[in-house]
Amino acid sequence: MSSPRYCRRCLYGTTHPLGLVLDAEGICSGCRIHEEKDQLDWSARWSKLEELVRPHRSRSGQDYDCIIPVTGGQDSYYMVHLVKERLGLNPLLVTYNKYFNTPLGIRNLANLRIRFNCDILVQNVNPVSVKKIVRTTLRELGSIYWPCLAGHTVWPVQVAVRHRIPLIIWGAHQGLEQVGMFSHEHEVQMTRRYRKDHDLMGREADDLLTVYDTLKEEDIWQYRYPSDADIESVGVTGIYLGNYVRWDPKAQHELMVEKHDYRGAPFARTFDTYDFVDCFNYMDLHDLLKLYKHGYSRVTDHACREIRHGRLTREQGLALVRAHEQVTPPYLGLLCEWLGITPQALQFMINEHRNPRFWTELSPGRWSFNGWSVHSGDAAAGAGEPLPAKAIFKASERLEYDRDAAYITIGKGWP
Ligand SMILES: [Zn+2]
Repeated sequence: MSSPRYCRRCLYGTTHPLGLVLDAEGICSGCRIHEEKDQLDWSARWSKLEELVRPHRSRSGQDYDCIIPVTGGQDSYYMVHLVKERLGLNPLLVTYNKYFNTPLGIRNLANLRIRFNCDILVQNVNPVSVKKIVRTTLRELGSIYWPCLAGHTVWPVQVAVRHRIPLIIWGAHQGLEQVGMFSHEHEVQMTRRYRKDHDLMGREADDLLTVYDTLKEEDIWQYRYPSDADIESVGVTGIYLGNYVRWDPKAQHELMVEKHDYRGAPFARTFDTYDFVDCFNYMDLHDLLKLYKHGYSRVTDHACREIRHGRLTREQGLALVRAHEQVTPPYLGLLCEWLGITPQALQFMINEHRNPRFWTELSPGRWSFNGWSVHSGDAAAGAGEPLPAKAIFKASERLEYDRDAAYITIGKGWP
């Protein structure tokens, strides 16, 4: 195994799970593709998007023109803003209930559908099966998020087929944004293959059945991708707005805070206050497992993005990574309670997924970390100085919003 190398511009390394290469100047493929954001003619690309969606516009005005998968966080507001307010389409919003909902996420989702005056379909898979899947994928794959990712990526496609609404509109493509897997000009579309390989760690619903005898047909059928024949007969396509709009999550969220009252909250394990405010686990146990398995965590993704947008220096980004990535997730107790396991059992299970490439057990329970941030450079120049105003993420709320920390199984929000 050759030793990993790190990009000279951002903080990504050659062991990135999405695949990443460095060029002769030591700059990664993700940074190179990011340069397109300042080179492409975005007004021409917006016109291409308008052309692309034109055939989907309902003539009667009494039908949905497209589907937008949303949550109470991430880029949901900006997507609906672009599709409804700028393209003038009538979207059907769809959301998969991941069960780890924060009160703030419920509030943001309610405000989203009310502000934009949109209809929404919620998929609520029965909790018994969801818990069985989470227990199984946590033990076997070191993932509590398999059903969340599977549900979020399959529910829109199922709705597209059942309701015969062929166009699904997504935000940014993570393979493009993080590692430059494609150029913006490839206009890559949603595929079943990418979903399986990257979102679902190589396991589709039926693969869980064949590998683990704990799960039954009745637990996983809701996560099954529609057949190719069904997809073709409706003509389902999924497009990414990031190919047509200069994607900048921080600027977009700030616009949505100002224009549509989106609200963020601080996190223990990252400095971004906007991304995953809908979930108690994404920036918590899910993020810790990422560090255990891959040697880096979401704060590195956030830092790389901010470095590329020119708001952080490499040193400042690395200092932020080091300040956040080893912080103990504050909400582990909620998951233990939900799954009916003790904190000791949880710690035992997750330790099984520490990658020996990045972790060494010095003595029982004492681990030494040898992940990306240990090797990716000197942060001294970025540590002491205050960050410039453009780099600051504001937060007006907390995840608990107006109550104590507890998962909200189903929440309508107001009114
Ligand atoms: Zn880079």
